[in-house]
Amino acid sequence: MRCPWCKAEDDRVVDSRPAEGGAAIRRRRECHSCRRRYTTFERIEGVGLMVVKRDGSKDPFEREKVAAGILKAAKNRPVTRDQVDRIVDRVEDRLRRKGPVVTSQEVGLEVLASLAKLDQVAYMRFASVYKDFQQITDFERELGVLLQKKEPAKRRSR
Ligand SMILES: [Zn+2]
Repeated sequence: MRCPWCKAEDDRVVDSRPAEGGAAIRRRRECHSCRRRYTTFERIEGVGLMVVKRDGSKDPFEREKVAAGILKAAKNRPVTRDQVDRIVDRVEDRLRRKGPVVTSQEVGLEVLASLAKLDQVAYMRFASVYKDFQQITDFERELGVLLQKKEPAKRRSR
């Protein structure tokens, strides 16, 4: 840890104790160079991303659930488990930046954004079976997004 006063990277921990109700560890550190003390907190990364469903109930974000939905949409398509895992990585990463609470619709839209680049048949299947995606206007809006993404290629061919 770099000392906030003298910037030396040489310290020792003089005290460790639970903080935030056990969710974090508070460490008191002493700089070897200037002997001043400072505090650091250690927290578990990535815990607590919650998904709110349309009925208002909350569930923890589950990678496997998202992966299963994508795999179902990508059945008999040239999409590998590896590609699906990478989509889930990207979706999870983007949601955690929005989190700690996201809606199930946001989860679906993030999946769709990634699927659109990978496989359009899987994209359309996912969009049509996605539970929070029942309104035709949502579907049309997403289709519009997909078509817009293809447009630059058309312009180039002119
Ligand atoms: Zn120091």
